[in-house]
Amino acid sequence: MVIGEAACQVIPAHGSGVASALYAGHLAAKVGASALKQGETSTRALWPYSHKYQSGRGATLACYDVNKLVVESLTNDQLSRLMEYGVMAPEDTWNAAVPKPVSMSLRSLPGRVIGLIKAPDLLGPVVDMGMSIATVKKHYKNYPREYDCEVIKQWKEKAAQIFAPLSKMG
Ligand SMILES: Cc1cc2nc3c(=O)[nH]c(=O)nc-3n(C[C@H](O)[C@H](O)[C@H](O)COP(=O)(O)OP(=O)(O)OC[C@H]3O[C@@H](n4cnc5c(N)ncnc54)[C@H](O)[C@@H]3O)c2cc1C
Repeated sequence: MVIGEAACQVIPAHGSGVASALYAGHLAAKVGASALKQGETSTRALWPYSHKYQSGRGATLACYDVNKLVVESLTNDQLSRLMEYGVMAPEDTWNAAVPKPVSMSLRSLPGRVIGLIKAPDLLGPVVDMGMSIATVKKHYKNYPREYDCEVIKQWKEKAAQIFAPLSKMG
């Protein structure tokens, strides 16, 4: 089992990784202890660690990776207007810092819409980001529950396909 920095479990929005490493360590210890108790320490027996992490906190961090890649692709001027006009709301910074799943409160929507009217060039990146986040979230929630080499290979290939256009944006 790989945890923490070695497993790329940092929060993409700001690079913090202590909480993820502690959480993953706790999860790995619980799964490992149970496997040892049953005298079965195969990859299959330890897989619940991977599934639980990737479909939970891993999904949240992957969504912030989308957020990071799209934000990085913007020009300085677009970034300024993203914040100044309220397309990006204070709650986004809070959610990313915790991290809580990427979400938008109903209360923040009018401000964001007004921001997008003032800066229509941001509409494309924001829509792309929202759609990619939904796709990534679904894909990570469906992380293989059981250890099966072929299924995992397919899952990884799909993840790479989803991220490929985003990685090229910057
Ligand atoms: C400058 C900086 C500031 C940061 N600030 C924050 C912050 O404010 N908040 C936050 O949450 N995160 C922060 N992080 C990230 C955080 O430090 C890491 O995410 C976290 O330490 C990961 O914990 P870890 O145990 O996985 O890895 P590490 O803390 O890197 O521990 C790995 C250990 O393994 C040792 N090691 C490596 N190779 C071997 C080997 N072959 N044999 C034996 N030992 C080995 C290393 O010496 C190290 O002690 C920061 C990182 C940096 C670089």
